[in-house]
Amino acid sequence: MSRTGLWDSHAHLDDEAFDGDREQLILQLQEDLDGVINAGCDAQSSAKAVALAEKYTFIYAAVGYHPENLTGIAADYLEQLAAWAVHPKVVAIGEIGLDYYWKENEPKEVQKRIFLEQIDLAKQCNLPVIIHDRDAHGDMLELFQKEVKGVQAVFHCFSGSLEMAKELAKRGYYFGFGGTSTYKNAQKVREVMQYIPKDLLLFETDCPYLTPVPFRGKRNNPGYVEYTARNAAAVLGMDFDELAALSAANTKRLFWKIK
Ligand SMILES: [Zn+2]
Repeated sequence: MSRTGLWDSHAHLDDEAFDGDREQLILQLQEDLDGVINAGCDAQSSAKAVALAEKYTFIYAAVGYHPENLTGIAADYLEQLAAWAVHPKVVAIGEIGLDYYWKENEPKEVQKRIFLEQIDLAKQCNLPVIIHDRDAHGDMLELFQKEVKGVQAVFHCFSGSLEMAKELAKRGYYFGFGGTSTYKNAQKVREVMQYIPKDLLLFETDCPYLTPVPFRGKRNNPGYVEYTARNAAAVLGMDFDELAALSAANTKRLFWKIK
């Protein structure tokens, strides 16, 4: 048990933002957190996620292709992901999803096809998926209402409406809350947090991005998940230790390969 008992269920410690002090930071995190799940975004970052998970006991990996990284994707990318998926420390396929924010991303149909292919792979491997959904809420909800079945999922840094959250919670999907839930203008995110059943709630950082208050504007790191969780405890009127234990149990239930 670490100092906080918390997990960061979505981090990018492989990011170059950590090149200067990764080792030192991870040694500190080992004291502060029970675990970190490092999500891959393409072949290179997925390989780095697996390498980090092999090096540090409390770090686990997810492997997948982020919707921003689909241009020039290898023809055999699914075989490559399948080979990683059997690794004992690869606990999910992700992050995968739809991103309609950036104009240079592949067309919607291409994004949907590759997203569904990776979901099928996760089903075959009996692994959960980590979902990225940016400005694609309508299509994402439709996919989960009509096409996607038989796979567990967490909607990381959920930014959809309360109505969408209700539809997803009804189907037992998980919600990841990060730094944005601490921002003054994020009332909608906090409403979702208050609505969803407590056993579907995870905490995350998405570091190096989306740094929580009071460090907004600085580089994020998994240790700051504590600020998000303390803010959530205040929002939910819960004891911090109790919420930490609950979210840790949720993380380990969803990512069942965690030992
Ligand atoms: Zn991410």
